Amino acid sequence: MAVTEPAPVELPPAHEGILRRQALRESAARTYARSLPIVPVRARGMTIEGADGRRYLDCLSGAGTLALGHNHPVVLEAVRKVIDSGAPLHVLDLATPVKDAFTTELFSTLPREFADNAQIQFCGPAGTDAVEAAFKLVRAATGRSELLAFTGAYHGMTAGALAASGGATDVRVTRLPFPHRYRCPFGTGGERGADIAARWTEYLLDDPKSGVPEPAAMILEPVQGEGGVNPAPDSWMRRMREITRERSIALIADEVQTGVGRTGTFWAVEHSGIVPDVMVLSKAIGGSLPLAVIVYRSELDLWQPGAHAGTFRGNQLAMAAGAATLAYVRENRLAERAGTLGARMLAALQALSADHPSIGDVRGRGLMIGIELVDPEAGPPTVTAENGSAPPPDPALATAVQQECLRRGLIVELGGRHGAVVRLLPPLTLTDEQATAVVDRLADALRAAERSPYRRAAAGPTR
Ligand code: PMP
Repeated sequence: MAVTEPAPVELPPAHEGILRRQALRESAARTYARSLPIVPVRARGMTIEGADGRRYLDCLSGAGTLALGHNHPVVLEAVRKVIDSGAPLHVLDLATPVKDAFTTELFSTLPREFADNAQIQFCGPAGTDAVEAAFKLVRAATGRSELLAFTGAYHGMTAGALAASGGATDVRVTRLPFPHRYRCPFGTGGERGADIAARWTEYLLDDPKSGVPEPAAMILEPVQGEGGVNPAPDSWMRRMREITRERSIALIADEVQTGVGRTGTFWAVEHSGIVPDVMVLSKAIGGSLPLAVIVYRSELDLWQPGAHAGTFRGNQLAMAAGAATLAYVRENRLAERAGTLGARMLAALQALSADHPSIGDVRGRGLMIGIELVDPEAGPPTVTAENGSAPPPDPALATAVQQECLRRGLIVELGGRHGAVVRLLPPLTLTDEQATAVVDRLADALRAAERSPYRRAAAGPTR
């Protein structure tokens, strides 16, 4: 007797019910889902449609992952091609034509001087796993174990990566001052602040009694993302390259968020022209599917077989989607487009700050933009910046702005040490009209949030 499979129980796509069940069943550690109570059911380009039929302009882009926006035709075509070919989808780290093509495409985008003498390690499919791999690599290559990282950094959520991001673990990381322009720890900002930060780094490394053991590597983000969109000055990047090279310290550039055109060059290290020893890459390289790698100078390839393993290092769909994304960004010069459009958006937002004392700072590079909200009336300034004083951050206002944006059909992210920086990470494919709509909706949301009794609402948790 034929046994008929019971039909799968279809839950009604009722927006409220799904959100309610999520709140009941999912972890207290969930993040984006708390501040963005939407239920995406369809998405194309920059637009997401919720189960309630509402449409949103997505300036979060999967935390900066979607260089081409949602479901770009070249990505869908690449994924379908792999599926239709009958290729295995799960292959550990075995060689495949799909991986071969991805590696060729990736290497063609990297700075020539770097790629001509580099190896690639496919990692577990998260940025944090690639950061761990980079640490293991440099430790094996140098025989040293200590690391240097910067204030405001974010490198992931696993132990080593967390230590470099300021979390407590037993990995020894020395935290060095990042040249924050607006909240400069030395109260000067600009080139002067960057110079002092670099001198402090040199001083610590060269003082035999500083208590800082000889490190294996320095890890930095060319533009700090989660830390609140803090671009590192190019001159400071070059100083860090000199300082590390002179002392045989490996320089690891974490381009997980800044890569693939986001900041106006294909890779953000190109702004300063430095060649790092290791690059950590994830997010956009997978074309919206999970993928993470490190690429590094061949001389460092001294670790043992199996030194960094992991089951899911062979996601063929991600490699195909990633190769298609990299090629599309390269062929259509989307990095340049990100640079031009980003500069225009930055200027429009800076103009907005003239009427809004609650906008403390507008900063960014390319389509990685941050607006730091402050409370000009609360308390004394925390530190001074080059342009005067920097009032205390206002995370409650930022939370209110995020909610008002959502009501106006705009998804934005919050970041920064206090969760007071509204972050924009739109896809590189956004149109001029969409860029204008983003700025208009944000301006409108800010006006509404400033009027609302937002200070009584507790600011949500930051990630
Ligand atoms: N490095 C940077 C610069 C990041 O922005 C992130 C994630 N936001 C990570 C590492 C960690 O990546 P993942 O969340 O995929 O582990």
